[in-house]
Amino acid sequence: MQKQFKTVIEPFKIKTVEPITITDRRQREEWLKEAKYNTFKLKSDQVIIDLLTDSGTSAMSAEQWAGVMRGDESYAGSVSWQRMEKVIKDLTGYPHILPTHQGRAAERILYSHLGGEDKVFLSNTHFDTTRANVEYSGAKAIDCIIPEAYDPDNDFTFKGNADVDTMEQHIREYGADHIGAVILTVTNNSGGGQPVSMENTRQIRDLCRRHGILFILDACRVAENAWFIKQHESGYSGKSCREIASEMFSLADGCVMSAKKDALVNMGGFLALNDPDLADHCTNMLIITEGYTTYGGLSGCDMEAIAIGLDEIFNEDYLQYRTRSTAYLGEHLDKMGIPVIKPIGGHAVYVDAGRLYNHIPPEKYPGHAMACELYKIGGIRSVEIGSVMFGKYDENGDLIPAPRELVRLAIPRRVYTQSHVDYVIEAFGFLKEGKDEVKGYQITKEPKFLRHFTAHFEPVQ
Ligand SMILES: *Cc1c(COP(=O)(O)O)cnc(C)c1O
Repeated sequence: MQKQFKTVIEPFKIKTVEPITITDRRQREEWLKEAKYNTFKLKSDQVIIDLLTDSGTSAMSAEQWAGVMRGDESYAGSVSWQRMEKVIKDLTGYPHILPTHQGRAAERILYSHLGGEDKVFLSNTHFDTTRANVEYSGAKAIDCIIPEAYDPDNDFTFKGNADVDTMEQHIREYGADHIGAVILTVTNNSGGGQPVSMENTRQIRDLCRRHGILFILDACRVAENAWFIKQHESGYSGKSCREIASEMFSLADGCVMSAKKDALVNMGGFLALNDPDLADHCTNMLIITEGYTTYGGLSGCDMEAIAIGLDEIFNEDYLQYRTRSTAYLGEHLDKMGIPVIKPIGGHAVYVDAGRLYNHIPPEKYPGHAMACELYKIGGIRSVEIGSVMFGKYDENGDLIPAPRELVRLAIPRRVYTQSHVDYVIEAFGFLKEGKDEVKGYQITKEPKFLRHFTAHFEPVQ
């Protein structure tokens, strides 16, 4: 009889290694001070475990590196482009594929054409770059997420679902002619990396059909989303994740995708569309701003690596390990009494620093304090998603805090092993022990926009 193992192993072995420099707390305190207590300003070789983002930080496979050597760098009609185009057409079913240097370039091309002063875009949640591109065109971006998503303890699986009734109300209010597109982000990165169900996707397809509105998928993490559907949505346990993703693409009219996430490459993206006229407009813009139609913003070796990555991502041993290793971190933190957003999504664990540091008010930035502590304790880099990132000032110069003070631990794909994750868990043990001594931070210098990247801080005495 075959035995059932409890341990989900990394379904790969390591061929090339990248050394990590082990540092001590005194050095890290010094570096953090030099970085004006802003972890974005740290140098990567001062970091032991880097959980800043899962974007562009994947480890490529031996097959992808072999593909890099095979990359055909011809200006027009590259063989590598033919491979990438075929893989995307087979997966998505969309006939028009435009290669871009990353996801936001695909967004800029599409949303600058569809947008404008009198337009509105509806989404479960617009990711930052999506919102920025929509708003830059003059249009309005409105998030329509289900109410469950506002409750951090509600562990409904498909917390990324859009609120279809709210979308319909907005369509009635603004008029279908004024809706640039409905954009469904899978998984919902800004919400907590939680999935969207096929049922919800189908309802949105029906809504868009009824009103004659374009339906676009932001497919950055479509494979991780497919894994959750396979595990949790009835009728899908017998389907492959690839079939599930293809079904999801078939419900929409096109997609934008940053290949830096699920496609397992360090740079790249694409736009894929059904409508030939829309594809023509976007192709003109592609040639002006990115490059010729058979490379966009990419080199041949990138395109080769994307073609292979888009195949590897649907390996279900990989997807099981991927989602399991993220959940492993989240579940351990939860058990230790570290408040986390539930359920755990695919690519990251979100820690509720506002709740753990409930003695630090928002104007002393508890999320930022936690990110600094994690670095000092273990050389771990995370990112604050709270009032440093999203806070605003009222007319008296008082802080209007973000709805929640979170710290995101994003997990790069195939990069860290279980012992790295155990080390992070241990660091949180020390962090919890010392929580009452942490006093928070004040901002000493900040720019007008996107202050989290460059602001200077000082610990509150
Ligand atoms: C990362 C991301 C983008 C933008 O892609 P880039 O490659 O970083 O430009 C768009 N949407 C979502 C959901 C993302 O996570």
